[in-house]
Amino acid sequence: MKLLSSAKEIRIVGGGLAGLSLGIALQKRGVSTKVIEAGSYPRHKVCGEFISGVSSSTLEALEIAPLFSDAIRHRKVQWRLGERVFREDRLPQDALGISRYALDNRLAREFENAGGRLETNQRAGREENGEGTIWAAGRVAEPSKWIGLKAHFEDLSLDSDLELRLGRGAYVGASKIEDGKVNVCGLFRKRIGIETSRTTALSSYVRIAGLEGFADRLESSSMNPQSASGVAALAFAKIVDASNRIQIGDAFGVMPPFTGNGMSLAFESAYVAAPFIEEYAKEKRDWQETVKAVQTSLAKTFAAKLGASRFLHPWIHSQWGQNAFYLLSKARLVPFKMLLSKVR
Ligand SMILES: Cc1cc2nc3c(=O)[nH]c(=O)nc-3n(C[C@H](O)[C@H](O)[C@H](O)COP(=O)(O)OP(=O)(O)OC[C@H]3O[C@@H](n4cnc5c(N)ncnc54)[C@H](O)[C@@H]3O)c2cc1C
Repeated sequence: MKLLSSAKEIRIVGGGLAGLSLGIALQKRGVSTKVIEAGSYPRHKVCGEFISGVSSSTLEALEIAPLFSDAIRHRKVQWRLGERVFREDRLPQDALGISRYALDNRLAREFENAGGRLETNQRAGREENGEGTIWAAGRVAEPSKWIGLKAHFEDLSLDSDLELRLGRGAYVGASKIEDGKVNVCGLFRKRIGIETSRTTALSSYVRIAGLEGFADRLESSSMNPQSASGVAALAFAKIVDASNRIQIGDAFGVMPPFTGNGMSLAFESAYVAAPFIEEYAKEKRDWQETVKAVQTSLAKTFAAKLGASRFLHPWIHSQWGQNAFYLLSKARLVPFKMLLSKVR
């Protein structure tokens, strides 16, 4: 049955996970939706590509569950200080391993197949804030001391589904994605004066972080050079913007990468916002009411998880923090249960 289109069109700024999954859900509920995306697809994106904490019922409600059919199902997480394993956890639910190269592209195609209008290579100004506009444009770029680096490897064996190594001013995750590849992604304190190229930056930074054994393994594995990417201007403590607009995904609140929860928050926030936005588009509530309802629901749903992960994030980066984290986790005083639980 062909759905009638809504009275009002929704305009979403940002065609990442949050924007596209909201766009798909709205289109499938008969809401005309346009997504404006600064980039194009497919594209490699700096990300651990480890989706932890999303409910399968959310992916089904957003009508995107089939896009994960070949994603790797992960359960075991191993924490290492250097090469020393200090903790192993079993997730209460499967995490999903899938590249952003595949996932973002699949979501974009699915949105278009659902009748959505996708405009690529178009950047909206931050002042654009009219009725019916949703911000899903990711985190705000701010000068910072961090750099994120990632690449895909063909023949890298792992002892766990996710190996998370803490190094000097850094942490690095490695986990399998579709087609048997392994994604390696790290967050590092920026260093000046080191000589690297796009394809050698990851192993150089891993080495400088004191993870020499792992750097050797990366250098002797075959890397997909196109997948090697980096991002700077990373800020993680952004407080929810109180301005008068709807923001979802990282634009609402940034989960520090070590949680593997950022992508889950993108999907879950789209899920929470969709019914309110649908009602606005079908003229069952006005815009001001819709903004308020979405802002309140998002804040209530994610406040605890965002608060806990932001509290722990600085610990993971400093030498003293990592040592304290190691000792406290041995004494079972780090709230791992909370960290590993679903984001909603
Ligand atoms: C180093 C690192 C590792 C990470 N590892 C993980 C992990 O393992 N697991 C996990 O769950 N999360 C991880 N994350 C976080 C995860 O990548 C984000 O939480 C997730 O991408 C958020 O999705 P989003 O749709 O909100 O934003 P994005 O995916 O960033 O999408 C935003 C989109 O908006 C577009 N855009 C921006 N500005 C404009 C504009 N003005 N006009 C039009 N378009 C615009 C961008 O091009 C982009 O496509 C990691 C992040 C980093 C930095």
